[in-house]
Amino acid sequence: MDLTKCKLCGEQFDSLSDLAKHLRSVEKIKQADYIKDNCVKKDKWSGDVIPFKTLQQYDETDFLNRDNFIKWVMRRASDQEAQDYCFDYLRKRSKTRPFKYIPSHVELRAINCLSIIGIEEKSSVAAYEEFCKGLGMLPRFDYDAKITVPYVEGMKIYVDTREQLPLSFPCTVESKTLNVGDYSCAEPHYSDLVVERKSLEDFVGTMGKGHARFTRAIERAEKQGIYIVIVIEEKFNTAFKYQGKASRQKFGGPSPFGIVRKLMQAHGNIQFLFANDRDGSADKIKKIFSVGDLIKKVDLQYHYDRKSL
Ligand SMILES: [Zn+2]
Repeated sequence: MDLTKCKLCGEQFDSLSDLAKHLRSVEKIKQADYIKDNCVKKDKWSGDVIPFKTLQQYDETDFLNRDNFIKWVMRRASDQEAQDYCFDYLRKRSKTRPFKYIPSHVELRAINCLSIIGIEEKSSVAAYEEFCKGLGMLPRFDYDAKITVPYVEGMKIYVDTREQLPLSFPCTVESKTLNVGDYSCAEPHYSDLVVERKSLEDFVGTMGKGHARFTRAIERAEKQGIYIVIVIEEKFNTAFKYQGKASRQKFGGPSPFGIVRKLMQAHGNIQFLFANDRDGSADKIKKIFSVGDLIKKVDLQYHYDRKSL
């Protein structure tokens, strides 16, 4: 549906804001009334009417939620349709919120788009990367890279003294005051790679109300050349559903996954990994420190979901 054309007089506009101006000053009609009378949009899977909030939101929305998008992809769309839809969707989004980096697996799972694994199944990562580069996005992760976890002799993990609920690791652990992060690995090997551990509630609080403070911490780390992996002790889907239902009433502030997407685009020195539970988090943190520098070049959630981390 082309929303940049006025359905009342047929005039074509370059942008939604030009149409908005036209509706206001020439047609003298409220946006919501104009939409209701002329261009009602329905969920591509369920056929339910999509509620109107803003022209931009209406233009970008074809599904009421990600579940409906996934059902459409799995049960109705051909591979080509799924790919075309996702590329169009990203093109549309990138007009109003340009992507600096090619969106990662976590970012894609948090919008109505195929994830990297979905793209592998319906299209190819190479095609996706080409498409994104065409829109001016920078590559961030190497999806051809394989992770091998070496055995590290005498490995020692530092835990910040302020860490409330320290995880246990099958290696030497020492308590230490860390400037950034909750966990780091003994020098000289990986001192510029740290892990922030978050329970689900920590995550929602930090990405919601606490996001300004967290952003400053990321910026400080960036200046010091420190890379942060934020490990969440929860499944991605549980966190994603939880934030939608609970976070705004309980925590207030912006949408946590909106902040995740924003931070991932603004900072090249972070990524997020949803590691299921506390045991999973401890296991992945030890692997992250064992692998070292390569961690910064691989999409951890992608490898986690692929079971290759
Ligand atoms: Zn008009």
